[in-house]
Amino acid sequence: MSGKKVLVTGSTGRTGAFVVKKLRQLSDQFEVFGFARSEEKIKELFGATEGFFTGDITNKSSLESALKGCELLVIVTSSFPKMKAPPQEGKPPEFEFEAGGMPEEVDWIGQKNQIDLAKDLGINHIVLVGSMGGTNPDHPLNKMGNGNVLIWKRKAEEYLINSGINYTIIRAGGLLNELGGKRELIVGKNDTLLTNPPNGIPTSIPREDVAELVVQALIEPSAKNKAFDVISKPEDDASAVVTKDFSALFGQTTPGL
Ligand code: NAP
Repeated sequence: MSGKKVLVTGSTGRTGAFVVKKLRQLSDQFEVFGFARSEEKIKELFGATEGFFTGDITNKSSLESALKGCELLVIVTSSFPKMKAPPQEGKPPEFEFEAGGMPEEVDWIGQKNQIDLAKDLGINHIVLVGSMGGTNPDHPLNKMGNGNVLIWKRKAEEYLINSGINYTIIRAGGLLNELGGKRELIVGKNDTLLTNPPNGIPTSIPREDVAELVVQALIEPSAKNKAFDVISKPEDDASAVVTKDFSALFGQTTPGL
């Protein structure tokens, strides 16, 4: 095995698993490790636990042995709101977070733990997957389970930028479980794609395309120290040119929150 050692947290998540699988295909460039909570889920998704560490990002010591010796870190962990009960007729559904799984704990403390450890251990570059919408405190996602999820995520992004570690922050639009590599990706900043999407296109992107962006961000120098929003043109959009030149795409993005 050769290549740069990279740890992917949230590796049993729906986007994180794609990141691990894609990076494993580049075994000449990367030696890939995953960090996840559940051994059972690791086996279910990857067949074996080799190359994986188990732990919890809210417990810094469980992360340390996983991150030690790595050069790169990909953060795809996230809190997850669950519907309390089937919605009552005419009423919006109510959401809640598991005990210990509030956005403040996972998206702020958990991400801060990862960034702090990365700094202590001399990690060279962190790629963080976040979400669009964080400039709007009244965003409906913030209301879910009174979690203020986008506010905590943005606070962690700011913390990463100020950490001095090289960063790439990918703030995705609504995630789709559709095939990647079939769309034109569009980058922006400060939620302008949400408030004013080009030609009124849906503000969404396949998870597999986000995973490819993560991989390319680890490869392309023009992704370093950049933070951006990203959506995609629909697959059947006649004006779309499938994104292949990631260096050029990252070239359109800018440093800072
Ligand atoms: P996901 O499937 O919900 O995966 C989240 C991962 O975080 C899971 O693997 C989960 O572990 C892990 N995790 C949660 N708490 C943890 C803890 N305390 N310790 C260790 N691991 C923990 O994620 P996704 O839907 O693919 O989203 C990826 C990213 O995109 C997230 O940051 C999300 O906020 C963002 N995003 C989502 C949307 C959307 O439409 N859903 C839109 C824009 C951006 P388990 O596997 O054990 O559950």
